Amino acid sequence: MQTNFRPEQLADPDVRESEKILRACVHCGFCTATCPTYVLLRDELDSPRGRIYLIKHMLENGRVTPRIVEHIDRCLSCLSCMTTCPSGVHYMHLVDHARAYIEKHHRRPLPERLLRRLLATVLPRPALFRASLLLGRLARPLAPLLPGRLAALVEQQPRHLPAPSWADRPQVLRPEGPRRARVAVLPGCVQQVIEPAINEATVRLLLRTGVEVVVPKISCCGALAHHLGMEEAARRTAARAVRAVVAAHRTEALDAFVVNASGCGVVVRDYGFMFREDPELAGDAATVSGLMRDVSEFLVELGLPERAVDVDLTVAFHAPCSLQHGLRAAAPAKRLLTELGLTVREPAESHLCCGSAGTYSILQPALARRLRARKSGHLAATGADLVATANIGCLEWLQGADGLPVVHVVQLADWLTGGPVPAAIAHLADRARPRRPRTVAAPASPQVAVS
Ligand code: SF4
Ligand code: SF4
Repeated sequence: MQTNFRPEQLADPDVRESEKILRACVHCGFCTATCPTYVLLRDELDSPRGRIYLIKHMLENGRVTPRIVEHIDRCLSCLSCMTTCPSGVHYMHLVDHARAYIEKHHRRPLPERLLRRLLATVLPRPALFRASLLLGRLARPLAPLLPGRLAALVEQQPRHLPAPSWADRPQVLRPEGPRRARVAVLPGCVQQVIEPAINEATVRLLLRTGVEVVVPKISCCGALAHHLGMEEAARRTAARAVRAVVAAHRTEALDAFVVNASGCGVVVRDYGFMFREDPELAGDAATVSGLMRDVSEFLVELGLPERAVDVDLTVAFHAPCSLQHGLRAAAPAKRLLTELGLTVREPAESHLCCGSAGTYSILQPALARRLRARKSGHLAATGADLVATANIGCLEWLQGADGLPVVHVVQLADWLTGGPVPAAIAHLADRARPRRPRTVAAPASPQVAVS
């Protein structure tokens, strides 16, 4: 694609990068067929190619119009277009830049500004998020009376709020037998509040595999603010994560930085790019990006512990967009399920987003619900007993559809190698048969606490 940037515009490294991406696009339109918003709306401006044109005009002319904002906001950042594109167009960096540009140069209506600010402030802070959920329970009966986005916010609150977990405290946990590896894990912000069982399963599973686990003093990776275009907030949060992981790495070399929410994984893998112009953090950020592994990727590389339980279950695998298009790591998660002796089925249109997409389900509730209904239908049509996935956003969002129960891949791996049955599928526990005398599960509390 031909571009018309002035030399002074190209002095900005972000514009320079976007110009390079724009020039790679050859307008072929292959990406439109696999774009969820184009599939739903059939509007060229809601396709990747249409958005690429809009972004080009916005950046070249320095003008942000409500129409441009509307179509960029509708993009899920699912990155399906990147998997399809034959020309290697890095749409993720382009749309990330566009979101940050809009945030900087465009004044949204006040209610929208307040909602976005609320999400960016509350969600990344576990204590604040927990307090807001407790308060939000009071508003739940009012949900039908609230306008669209506020109703979506209130409706999406989990019905049960688990207690804070031992697994999310900063600490070092050592395996009982010989150590095979040493990793840091990302506790995550939203996940540790609404589904701490996922981190507990991850830690137990890693310990059982012979892995020393460092839980650094971090929660959010910066993804939430990043996807809202709030770049400064995102970089501040990400910088804290980079410093904490590098400190653990300097104490004793880490073999990996394990992330069990693929949405976070995509942003962590991109830290090197995010801090490329930062003389202080560029090297450390690239180190953390290089260490990042999705939990399934890491476990498949290392090998699972011996199976403790045989179970006759069919699992529909929902590969989150961040896992399949962002990290290109859906295959290890699927392999993990197969190695656990499960029958694995993939739903039709597995490349299409479920509509969760971070805060998308709150900011674009109508489109998100249409995508969820479509996805839930395909998952149910597999005839599976349950759904396994690898990202907290998809898990909670699909769970809310009241279809098949949904669990994280690591919860299944933990259960079938000696851990407890995940609560969401407790009714399926009688299908399990012990394989060998049950071994002592990894401790449920830290062995070595680090202040
Ligand atoms: S990221 Fe997803 S929603 Fe956005 S343009 Fe690409 S395919 Fe469409
Ligand atoms: S498939 Fe790639 S090159 Fe073709 S229009 Fe889409 S982004 Fe551009």
